[in-house]
Amino acid sequence: MSVPTPSNQLHDLSVSQLAAKLRNREVSAVETAQHFLARTMAHADLGCYLATDEAVTLAQARAADVRLAAGEVTPLLGVPIAHKDIFVTKEFVSTAGSKMLTGYHSPFDSTIVSSMAHSGMVTLGKLNCDEFAMGSSNENSAYGHVKNPWDTARIPGGSSGGSAAAVAARLTPAATGTDTGGSIRQPASFCGITGIKPTYGRASRYGMIAFASSLDQGGPMARSAEDCALLLSAMCGPDLDRDSTSLDVPAEDFSRDLNASINGLRIGIPQEFFGEGLSPDVRSAVDTALAEYEKLGAKLVPISLPRTELSIPVYYIIAPAEASSNLSRFDGVKFGHRATQYTDLRDMYRQTRTEGFGEEVKRRIMIGTYVLSHGYYDAYYLQAQKIRRMIADDFQQAFQQCDVIAGPVAPTVAWKLGEKSDDPVANYLADIFTLPASLAGLPGMSVPCGFGESGMPVGLQLIGNYFAEAKLLNAAHALQQATDFHLRQPEGFSS
Ligand code: GLN
Repeated sequence: MSVPTPSNQLHDLSVSQLAAKLRNREVSAVETAQHFLARTMAHADLGCYLATDEAVTLAQARAADVRLAAGEVTPLLGVPIAHKDIFVTKEFVSTAGSKMLTGYHSPFDSTIVSSMAHSGMVTLGKLNCDEFAMGSSNENSAYGHVKNPWDTARIPGGSSGGSAAAVAARLTPAATGTDTGGSIRQPASFCGITGIKPTYGRASRYGMIAFASSLDQGGPMARSAEDCALLLSAMCGPDLDRDSTSLDVPAEDFSRDLNASINGLRIGIPQEFFGEGLSPDVRSAVDTALAEYEKLGAKLVPISLPRTELSIPVYYIIAPAEASSNLSRFDGVKFGHRATQYTDLRDMYRQTRTEGFGEEVKRRIMIGTYVLSHGYYDAYYLQAQKIRRMIADDFQQAFQQCDVIAGPVAPTVAWKLGEKSDDPVANYLADIFTLPASLAGLPGMSVPCGFGESGMPVGLQLIGNYFAEAKLLNAAHALQQATDFHLRQPEGFSS
């Protein structure tokens, strides 16, 4: 691990530093994009990118340069970004990490992608992820795994593994991710970067290839809370005509409270997040961060989220139920893969889906179909929905005692590639600390807070009440002003 040293290399600059350099015309958007594309090529073995297209990227960069030359002052103009391949894009192939969508060209851009383009960001390409965002290790991608830049024998986390690894290796200053049950927070934690999932419904789901619609939420991943705040401000806002679950809540300037004092902030510490399953190295990094918060004037308040353990069975009923319905659109007729050998229509469906979907996706379709079927619906799906409501109520109870909640993102640091790939349940169990906020639709983030076993990064999870993103970013920024974990970088990626 290298200790941060001041550097003027473009890839070492934060989003805001890069934006300032572009505005001052010290570097052009084209030069910046070329620099990051060259790094992406040089580190292709990490497996982060599924699609790049130099001509498309440079055309966007030239357009940003025209706006910069005209003196336009917008905070993200000319800064590169890369998108998780779950967001559909007109100019790049969109696969969702699935063979089902090999070579698929969307006729439109997802709302988040077009919002970022509108703010002048330049798209570097599309990032690897678990197939249809189902997974915690990025090993479920049909296009190969992604390596964690901190130790290439380890997973980067998932499902937004390509996004997290690309930011950590400085192949892009910013990326999008999606979080259904932790897929922004957990890979951010495993790769030592910062990521935030806003309140469900704050950023449009339009054009995000659907996994579990009542949970899916896009958000930014970058190195610092300050950068995430800038990105999130451009990403949020109502999209009522195109997303039926979009909230009619105006976009905010999420940077506005970054430097507010956190003196007196009440940080709730859920006892259920610090039990037996938490590995000691993660616990110690999290405890050190909490002690730092106390030094900054925050108060730690013991709280309880009594149904934390139930979030695993609840999520793994609801998410597959929704997935089984969402994925029925992949029938070989409308888009994507179609089998070439079949006898009749029914066989065409069967062959197409057999060939197009990977093992984990098939497992979830089967679980989802089962829990929704006549005779089991009441026993599983309906029960899960009831407990989901109770989990959300538990949070409301907790927020009467505290302003934000803090704990680990995951029970361990990133594990070795292959270590859990034959054991889906082991993967599901590792989601225990991220699932509760997802089920409740609450905003949550991961903030680098130290290093654990084998020097692997550890993330602190911060959870806020609905619409408390600015408060979360303020708390995260305060920690990042007092520590330098978010500035550390993995060996071998400095130049
Ligand atoms: N690991 C969880 C799952 O496999 C969460 C994935 C996500 O948030 N997209 O479903």
